[in-house]
Amino acid sequence: MSDRAARLVERLPAMEADAIVVTNPVNLRYLTGYTGSNGLAVIGPETRAFLTDFRYQEQSVSEVDPSFDRRILTLDLLAGVSDVLPADAERLAIEDGNMTVRAHSHLRELVGERVELVLAADPVEALRAVKEPAEIDRIRAASEIGDAGLREIMAEGLVGRTEVAVADSLERAMRSHGATGLSFPSIVAAGPHGALPHAQPRDVEISAGELVVIDWGAVLDGYCSDCTRTLATGELDDELHAVYELVLEAQLAGLKAIHVGANGREVDGVARAVIEAGGHAEHFGHGLGHGVGMEVHEAPRLSQRSDSVLASGNLVTVEPGVYLPGRLGVRIEDLVVVTESGCEILTGVPKEFITVE
Ligand code: ZN
Ligand code: ZN
Repeated sequence: MSDRAARLVERLPAMEADAIVVTNPVNLRYLTGYTGSNGLAVIGPETRAFLTDFRYQEQSVSEVDPSFDRRILTLDLLAGVSDVLPADAERLAIEDGNMTVRAHSHLRELVGERVELVLAADPVEALRAVKEPAEIDRIRAASEIGDAGLREIMAEGLVGRTEVAVADSLERAMRSHGATGLSFPSIVAAGPHGALPHAQPRDVEISAGELVVIDWGAVLDGYCSDCTRTLATGELDDELHAVYELVLEAQLAGLKAIHVGANGREVDGVARAVIEAGGHAEHFGHGLGHGVGMEVHEAPRLSQRSDSVLASGNLVTVEPGVYLPGRLGVRIEDLVVVTESGCEILTGVPKEFITVE
């Protein structure tokens, strides 16, 4: 963890800052190990300070990396920032993606004229985007738990069960395989309901001869997995089957386009071109993928608006979809690690066209 803080310090010159105050709870956990709800860190070349309030005194002793000087304050932690800031610090970076306007004005009053607050532009998120081997191992294990969950519900069958019941069994199965949480509430969406990319499971029975979109993920020790499969529940008409094959072709093309140095827009474009050629350009309304780690959606992004450049150790999803309103949805999502030679797929469940009755 102290290495992570050191890597953050290396980014201070680019921010033209002498120190940074970290307030985003996920970033704070990444840098210090702390999982409580009220805490902040001030990090500079010679400074490693962690501030929390009396409620977290014991928790912070057991969790916070010993390289940090721990201080216990009253509830207003920003009031302690000046005390831990080096006397010669003139520019203090803040996480502008996280700090409220109110907290920002409060901090400005507290640090006074001497210190200028500068916007940091997500430097900790940038560090988090490149995973350490131990983080990849944890996400791989979370992904295996997700795989085991899907295998259980495939064995139980889908037809005649409600979407809610299937989602419940999937979540129970993941917990029984060791998940410490869920990446997000599972999506189980049959037939036309699958046309909503963020569908919520309904108390409606799944019929034979539909496509069912299942999107789910397990959390293991603070790290998420994310996967989508679309299963058929019996004979489908040729057009629906063809949409499935098209999405699969786009997904495989997207995976192939992943390499160190590729940018997010390029990789998205490769998969998108396949779907366009199949005549469904307007039915693929979201980006191809996103980073996954301590949060289920993080850097880097694979989309037409992305300027992320892929690096070894990035962990991203590749999840094209086609959504025909009132008819069906198909999405196929794998979780992959960007490696020097392309990518390694962590997802272990099959993705060829599968019928589960
Ligand atoms: Zn997903
Ligand atoms: Zn996803």
